[in-house]
Amino acid sequence: MKPSIFGYEAPTSLEDAIRLLAGDTDAVVLAGGQTLLPAMNFRAANPSLLVDIQHIQGLRGIAVGADGIVVKAMVRHREFELDQDVLCANPLVAEVIQHVAHVPIRTRGTVVGSLCHADPSAEIPLLLVLLGGSVIAQGPSGTREIAAEDFFQSFLTTARSHDEIVIEARFPLLPRRAGWAFDEVTRRHGDYAVVGVGCVVSLDGSGCAERVRLAACGIADRPIRLKDAEAILTGTALGISDLDAAAEASVAAVTQPDDINVSQSYRRRALGALIRRMVVKAAQRAGSAQHAESVA
Ligand SMILES: Cc1cc2nc3c(=O)[nH]c(=O)nc-3n(C[C@H](O)[C@H](O)[C@H](O)COP(=O)(O)OP(=O)(O)OC[C@H]3O[C@@H](n4cnc5c(N)ncnc54)[C@H](O)[C@@H]3O)c2cc1C
Repeated sequence: MKPSIFGYEAPTSLEDAIRLLAGDTDAVVLAGGQTLLPAMNFRAANPSLLVDIQHIQGLRGIAVGADGIVVKAMVRHREFELDQDVLCANPLVAEVIQHVAHVPIRTRGTVVGSLCHADPSAEIPLLLVLLGGSVIAQGPSGTREIAAEDFFQSFLTTARSHDEIVIEARFPLLPRRAGWAFDEVTRRHGDYAVVGVGCVVSLDGSGCAERVRLAACGIADRPIRLKDAEAILTGTALGISDLDAAAEASVAAVTQPDDINVSQSYRRRALGALIRRMVVKAAQRAGSAQHAESVA
């Protein structure tokens, strides 16, 4: 199919882009186009106007600092994945992004576009929730910061207003000596996750879990922290019974019903298996980081 008739504007300033959005309730932002254009071709999206943000000054670039990683709106997945400063500051990023689609799509699609699309099975929204990051949205009445857990509201729905543009995403650094892990179950490599789990673990001097963060995608109408599992695992030696209890406590978090791919009970089993594997992998990496620091 072909898209229905639409207008196109390519402003060079953020103010003009916001004015265009505010002036037409059916106007939408065009970033990398990797989700929006296929949706228009299927007529699942019928915007009256595309506001292309790729020529706007100031929406490019990645900055890594002591406070975290700032990713501007027109940064492509592939730039984020290959940035050496990001790799040093937060190796979890590359581990997650390699699961997003395929290289040609990652070369065009943007990190912030993925956040704004808010597919509950997508990997980048999970990463932002897992790390406790935020986005900065700018609209006619100014700029505001929205925490990841408030930004994702439900299926393909965020807290962004129609006339706001997300100008950057802020990803925190990994805590010092933390271990990390991400993996997912998919039907084919490059597909959206059937279930994905990310984990960050810090250990205390005796090898027990001092801090655990867990988040999952593909199990509900948005990416979610698995707070019950985090509470169960914190302070433990992460033994088999602790992992089993954490997996069991997370079953109820799976609210995604049966669909054409898998049943809800399959998702629950996959979630439990991924929690066990990701916690162990993150803890092993945390142990290695601790060991490396003690011998350095
Ligand atoms: C075959 C295929 C497989 C894919 N597989 C995966 C996958 O496995 N995992 C995954 O996560 N993604 C996957 N994607 C999607 C891909 O990651 C997209 O790049 C991403 O979802 C959207 O980024 P984009 O820059 O292309 O956004 P666009 O398509 O340009 O926009 C997407 C939506 O976000 C809005 N938007 C974009 N940027 C902004 C902004 N700065 N402010 C406000 N609103 C904005 C747009 O208006 C639109 O509604 C796949 C895509 C394809 C075509």
